[in-house]
Formats: sequence, C-alpha cells, structure tokens
Amino acid sequence: MSAKRGGASGEHIRVPRVRPKVAPAAPSQADLDGALPQDIAQLISKPPTGASLRAVSRLQRVSGNQAVQRLLQRATSAIIQRDKVAHTTGKQVDTYLNASPFIKTYVADKVKGGTKAEGHVHIEDAATFAKSWETYSLKRLNPDTGKTFTAAEAAAWEPTVNAFRDGSEIHIHEERGETGTAIHESIHLFCDGKFRDTMGFTVNEGATEFFARAICAEQKITRGSFYVSERTSVEKLVALTSKEDLAAAYFNGKIDELKAAVNAKKKDTFDKWLGFMKAKKYGDADALL
Ligand SMILES: [Zn+2]
Repeated sequence: MSAKRGGASGEHIRVPRVRPKVAPAAPSQADLDGALPQDIAQLISKPPTGASLRAVSRLQRVSGNQAVQRLLQRATSAIIQRDKVAHTTGKQVDTYLNASPFIKTYVADKVKGGTKAEGHVHIEDAATFAKSWETYSLKRLNPDTGKTFTAAEAAAWEPTVNAFRDGSEIHIHEERGETGTAIHESIHLFCDGKFRDTMGFTVNEGATEFFARAICAEQKITRGSFYVSERTSVEKLVALTSKEDLAAAYFNGKIDELKAAVNAKKKDTFDKWLGFMKAKKYGDADALL
C-alpha cells in the first residue's frame, strides 16, 4: 500500500464497485483489478518547496500509517500553493492518437466505431472534482477497509487523488497530475475488452503506460514515473516480441497472436509470465523472458 502514496506508482484511482450480493469467495479477475490499491495517484502535482517542503517532510516522517498520513496530507495540501496543470483535453488526445505513426492504425476501427476521448475527459476545478469524487467513491469499496467508503473516508482520500475513471468518464483535478495524465486515462478507453479481461490489472496498466509514453514522446510531452514495475515488465515482453504485437493485442484483442509470438521465442512461457504478472511477481516474470 505504500506505493500508492509514493507518487511513482499509479496515476489514477480505481476502487471496486459495491457489490452487495457477491459472496466473499475468491474474487474474479475483474474484482481483483478493481481492488488492487496501488492504482492511485501521485499525491500532489508539484513538489512543495521551502517551508512547505520541510513541513510535509516532517509530517511524513512522523506519520506511521496511511490513515494518519492522509489526514496530514489533507491538512498540508491546503497550505501548498498550486497552479493549474496544462492538462491535455480529450480532443487533443484523439488528435494525438490519430496522428501517431505507431498507434493510429490500431485504434482506427474503434475510432470509426465512435470511441473517442473528446467529451469524456472532464478537467474539473477543486469543488467540482471533490463532488465528482464523492459521488463516485460513496458507491465504491475502500481498499483500506474492504467496506463502502464513508463520507469521512471519501473526504480524507480526496486530496490524494489526481484523477479517476468512472467507466467511460475521466475526471481530472485541474491542479493535480500532469499533462500526460489525460493521455494515460484516455488510452484506457481504446483498450480491447478481451485484453483487459485476459491480461489483468498489472499488464493492463503497464501496457497503457507504455502507449501513453509513446504518445508523450511523439508529442514531446514530459512524462513522470508511473507504473514503473508494470511498464518495465511489459517492455521486456515487447523486447522479446514487438511493440506491434503488443498494440494488436491491446487495441484489437489479438491475445492469441501475442501469446504465439512469446512462445515462439520462449517455449511455453506466456501463461507462466502472465501468472507472475497477475501475482505482481515482476522479477519472476522478467526472469522468464
Ligand atoms: Zn491506468
């Protein structure tokens, strides 16, 4: 859980929907995906400076658990001066994807079918974002407690959330995250359902960040460190196969082809690799390739 507060793991937050009639047996992959807690944002869009930095450092040193830390962050966030982030709009993301020499052919069918980021990326001021987050989170499970978020918990979490995706709708705090935030979030919208369901949370996030970084590089947008472990392992897979194989699987559902490409290089490896990735054993996954 510490990774989610460290700023170098996830970009957004996803918490599972409340499913009151689901027995607490082995969760499905979809449940696991939603429940994994590290898919959470960097805490603040810019590092604090001077006195604020010292205050935050001191508070972080003394805070022993996440609940306390969140409360402290909530208190300190109010005193840290923030500026608006130069967020990418949904329309810009569509333009970038459709102009990408690498990605445009893979998203073409979905674009023709009506998938787009325009109209789905909501860059919100502080009050609007807080309201959106409250509406969303009160219907979700708090990964810390395994129970539905209470209003107090939702409010305590809010300062640590840069952005979240509620189905097809992406909510981004205008003062949090970075220019690449909307790019990462929007690429999720173009992911083939088969890839999402088959590959699980870690590969999905690693691949999404891989493509987000490709777009950022093409557009000369500086991208911070997100999903580093997940992405690094996905990059090893790409090195063994190709980025085209990954793109065809991710955007077009060609999982069998990706699997065949992996196994052609390393016999009977793909399923084992995927198992390690789902278990977040990145070192074991990497060692297979
Ligand atoms: Zn993501």
